Amino acid sequence: MTQFVFVTGGVVSGLGKGIAAASLGAILESRGLQITLMKLDPYLNVDPGTMNPYEHGEVFVTEDGAETDLDLGHYERFISAKMTRYNSFSSGQVYESVLAKERKGDYLGKTVQVIPHVTNEIQAFIRRGVKAAPITPDVAIIEIGGTIGDIESLPFLEAVRQFSLQEGRGSCCFIHLVLVPYLAFSGEIKTKPTQHSLQKLREIGIQADIVLCRSDKPVPDEERNKISLFSNVPAKAVVSVWDVDNIYKIPRMLYEQQVDGTVCDVLRLTAKPANISVWDNLVATEIAAQSRIVTIGMVGKYVDGTAAESYKSVVEALRHGGIHNQCTVKIDYIDAELLEKNDINSLKDSLKHLDAILVPGGFGSRGTEGKIRAIQYAREQKVPYLGICLGMQLATIEFARHVCGMTNATSTEFDPATITPIITLIEQWQDTNGKTELRTVNTGLGGTMRKGSQRCPVQPSTLVYKIYGDSVNERHRHRFEVNPQLVGQLEAKGYIVSARTPSELLPEMMEYSQTVHPWFVGVQFHPEFTSTPQAGHPLFKAFIDAALTLKT
Ligand code: GLN
Repeated sequence: MTQFVFVTGGVVSGLGKGIAAASLGAILESRGLQITLMKLDPYLNVDPGTMNPYEHGEVFVTEDGAETDLDLGHYERFISAKMTRYNSFSSGQVYESVLAKERKGDYLGKTVQVIPHVTNEIQAFIRRGVKAAPITPDVAIIEIGGTIGDIESLPFLEAVRQFSLQEGRGSCCFIHLVLVPYLAFSGEIKTKPTQHSLQKLREIGIQADIVLCRSDKPVPDEERNKISLFSNVPAKAVVSVWDVDNIYKIPRMLYEQQVDGTVCDVLRLTAKPANISVWDNLVATEIAAQSRIVTIGMVGKYVDGTAAESYKSVVEALRHGGIHNQCTVKIDYIDAELLEKNDINSLKDSLKHLDAILVPGGFGSRGTEGKIRAIQYAREQKVPYLGICLGMQLATIEFARHVCGMTNATSTEFDPATITPIITLIEQWQDTNGKTELRTVNTGLGGTMRKGSQRCPVQPSTLVYKIYGDSVNERHRHRFEVNPQLVGQLEAKGYIVSARTPSELLPEMMEYSQTVHPWFVGVQFHPEFTSTPQAGHPLFKAFIDAALTLKT
């Protein structure tokens, strides 16, 4: 039987609820419990697929091809269970489902209302998520997006209140994560916002069992006791979660304050003691690697300060690549649009300190010419290069233009009428090829998207064969492909297709011979989604290894 932990947030958003929930999941998993995590988002978008990553953060893609919130990435990096499309849902999805039922007449002429129809649907979606887990979870940790007091999150809170009533005492544990501000000018820690937030929660009918107090430094006992007294939460369950320089320190922080023990007490669960040594080891490895630095240039279209969130999984995968090479990866975010304006000497100047270059996934034409210039630099100067999705497509365009003399080569994404469509929409070449076996999804945005995991054989005696072995199974999220009808012209000049999809023969990975370039790889999929801190990822490990080995 599954028991539930609900994690809500108060005072302000952006406190790291996802990391806290995932860390709790990791500790409980180390106690031998089967864990799943879910994210409930109150916004009306059906999924984050169409949301601006600069505003909303990365779109995380699950194995089964769902476009989800970046918190699902944290979940997969902290616990061993893999997420599916059922591990997250938004108000948009809930309403879409309720309205479809209403149109079908499922509500038998009744007035359709937020309570009970929307709230019932939310509960059904939570149960559906638990059922979809391959092994029945002992504990499902359900994170509710947004902040207490938001109009949008009210149906979710009402739904989980009712849910806990149905499940009965001892089946649900409520954790509330709040900001406890420190006022530097008066030297005081303020507990009032926390008291109000917990009071608001009680108005809705939810009594928190645990309060996680986010603050810049540990919250002293006096303030913790005050929060306990005013909010009816035992003092030992008022937990201090202060800022740390490394998210892998969070499991230990929660463990030392017995959060897992309190959850087990509330849920009346008996489990073996926790063992969080993997997280301690990761922290120790990163500390030991501090003086061995490798600098990776990540070329994208950046709006100040948003890069780390918009490319969360790439950033984490590079970091894991560092951990597994006993070095620290420093990422230099390079604005592709600035590279477009540079003359060749200043372009070289702005890239010469880099040990390797990475162009991540992306959509739209803005900044692409600058990225192509960075790729040309990497190819000509023999700097290790990893191109992910758009980064592989642009590497292909770069090669077509500068090595094969196809000066107009581009993608139909940037110029739909191009006479040299080296990158095309799937259906643009399917029309002439006639095959339709790919798992494709019409997104309603003028294209068919390849999404989710797909297995593909790898060409023997290639660089990526040494990395992946004879097959690769990675996640996709793109509409465009290297045009299989033109790629032969590139291959004649040294462009190596190191993996092709089995039925459609679409280029899945490309590289240059190590006799001409020490390490140049492009992949049409997104390897970053499967990297974990414990195991790392073969491609990122090899990329960082190349950057380290060739470092001047
Ligand atoms: N815009 C490109 C496409 O749709 C690349 C997408 C990506 O990098 N995820 O194919």
